[in-house]
Amino acid sequence: MKIAICGAGIAGPTLAHFLLREGHEPMLIESAPAFRTGGYVVDFWGLGFTIAERMGVIDAVLDRGYQAEEVRLVTRDGHAAGGFKADVFRRMTHDRFTSIPRGDLAEILFETVKDRVETRFGDSVAALHDTGDGMEVRLESGGSWDVDMVVGADGLHSRIRQLAWGAQSEFERPLGYHVAAFEAAGYPKRDDNVYVTHSEPGLSLARFSLRGDRTLFMMLFSDEHFGAETPETLADQRALLRSVFDGAGWEAQEILGVLDTVEAFYFDRISQIEMPEWSRGRVVLLGDAAACASLMAGEGTGLAMTEAYVLAGELGRSGGDVVAAGRAYEARLRHFIDAKQKAARAFAGSMIPETAFGVWVQRIATRAMVLPPIADFFIGDSLRDDFVLPDYEF
Ligand SMILES: Cc1cc2nc3c(=O)[nH]c(=O)nc-3n(C[C@H](O)[C@H](O)[C@H](O)COP(=O)(O)OP(=O)(O)OC[C@H]3O[C@@H](n4cnc5c(N)ncnc54)[C@H](O)[C@@H]3O)c2cc1C
Repeated sequence: MKIAICGAGIAGPTLAHFLLREGHEPMLIESAPAFRTGGYVVDFWGLGFTIAERMGVIDAVLDRGYQAEEVRLVTRDGHAAGGFKADVFRRMTHDRFTSIPRGDLAEILFETVKDRVETRFGDSVAALHDTGDGMEVRLESGGSWDVDMVVGADGLHSRIRQLAWGAQSEFERPLGYHVAAFEAAGYPKRDDNVYVTHSEPGLSLARFSLRGDRTLFMMLFSDEHFGAETPETLADQRALLRSVFDGAGWEAQEILGVLDTVEAFYFDRISQIEMPEWSRGRVVLLGDAAACASLMAGEGTGLAMTEAYVLAGELGRSGGDVVAAGRAYEARLRHFIDAKQKAARAFAGSMIPETAFGVWVQRIATRAMVLPPIADFFIGDSLRDDFVLPDYEF
């Protein structure tokens, strides 16, 4: 079958990989003009880790990943006030845990298909038309593809979801926070393999040192404190970040200075996507487009890969019945993904305390995690995947 996949992020290339193994003809369409490596760093473990092994890319992932050693919470003047050793992540996952720039992970996944799949960069889907026995996909650049199935793997702001289901606002659940993430070279302060973070009521900022003298910065703030509007332009986003983080203590002024020098950065509200169904006829949603759990889940990449793996497998089992495959894929995963979304919502409040007392509690609680049983108790649960990957015959 010919299968159009919109989005060459995490879910899209993973799906293409397993569809090729099933003997199908996937085609990728990606709005970015070229492949972007780098970006914010994602923790990667669990089902995603296992699927990366099955794709034969886990060594590449580990090579480009980082083994964080410590999460350090600091005060306004930079003194360590809380935190824990990050070996709890490795212990709980039996050493199957790494942290890797999202773009690097996407590139590694894409490399497995790139010479075998028609890929259009700098393009998108303008319209979908159901022809009865297939789908016509009209491309923004002109022209069209006739395919058997269309997959929306185009992230939180999915075009395919919008075309087939309607406006994002109907399916988006904002969690009450915004995030900005960016990287820059030459930041003078470095703490290799330590995630250094400072919180004030309603906000937090962090840095993580990368190879090649680069540093990743992450800024989070609560809508309750600073307003829920999401500015559209880069200039307005910069201005909002400046007004929120000005005077926030620790390295806030230096980090705002770096923000002024970067050409592009990630900025968005933190939201989940809740769909009444993940497929409709010959159109199927995957990854963040279908059921974004948000960065609060710390596992969106692994979940996106799991969904891609299961969809490809169910397509094989259904003998090419795309409607049945879409339903079977959702039936297998819905309960598991709903639980991940619920856990992410519960975690959100503890990541960014709203009060000075909450900031203090966060520091004390993370200090208690020096005791392995306490760390295992708090973190172990969030690292468990209550889903067994089916053994499809890829
Ligand atoms: C700051 C931050 C930190 C995170 N931390 C973690 C973490 O620690 N661990 C973890 O596992 N996950 C984390 N996540 C979540 C994770 O990044 C996502 O869940 C994951 O990338 C989802 O994969 P995806 O393929 O569904 O979507 P994406 O990775 O978003 O890929 C979608 C692709 O579609 C393309 N696209 C978008 N619109 C269109 C269009 N109209 N037409 C064509 N192409 C389009 C995009 O350019 C992109 O390449 C984090 C997210 C953020 C924002």
